[in-house]
Amino acid sequence: MRISGFQKLTLLDYPNQIAAIIFTLGCNFRCGYCHNPEFVDPKLTKNVPLIPEEEIFKFLENRKKLLDGVVISGGEPTIQPDLIPFIKKIKALNYLVKLDTNGSNPHILEQLIKNKLIDFIAMDIKGNLKKYSEIVNVKIDTKLIKQSIELIKKSGIDYEFRMTTLPLHHNEEDIKNIGELIKNCNNFYIQNFRCHRTLNPKYQKEKSFQNANLQKFAEIMKNYVKIVQIRD
Ligand code: SF4
Repeated sequence: MRISGFQKLTLLDYPNQIAAIIFTLGCNFRCGYCHNPEFVDPKLTKNVPLIPEEEIFKFLENRKKLLDGVVISGGEPTIQPDLIPFIKKIKALNYLVKLDTNGSNPHILEQLIKNKLIDFIAMDIKGNLKKYSEIVNVKIDTKLIKQSIELIKKSGIDYEFRMTTLPLHHNEEDIKNIGELIKNCNNFYIQNFRCHRTLNPKYQKEKSFQNANLQKFAEIMKNYVKIVQIRD
């Protein structure tokens, strides 16, 4: 596993659990607003020092009584060729596992779900499927995104869908379109774009939505989804 970051404690990233977070290096998307450019841009990833797996497992062995779970985030974890054996090793230590994903690899998600290797999935929704390739800056077969959504909804495990919104990419029609896409799912979180650090420097000049816009999006989304929240 190419591991670029390890946070030993989080109370925020795994709902209702005390967890550690592992950040994997590399992503198959190039969202301009991405706030982890060093995990995504190949010009930068090559300079990121990797954390040896042994170091992570040594820590996890010693924290079994103090931590409930491990979050695997990125980058995009499902592009790591050894993700499945890596998660098996974490599960062997009896940890809960939460996976953060962009939903581009449903075949990996299917194996993880089928083999009961994950306990929570958080999938980013990037926008209206018609705009997906434009938003993520790579050509993406949106059938894969749809497949991931359906798999997650039917998985029987805890999940959330979440979306970073910004005026450049999203409007009320898009929110309706996304509502249809994830109709009847349990949880949807709306996050506002913040222009601190971005993969594409042009996004640092992009505007964020006003709170009233986000509230309107949440109202629209409540026609489709059980729980909708705006997350700071
Ligand atoms: S925002 Fe997520 S999916 Fe997009 S480039 Fe960054 S890590 Fe990849």
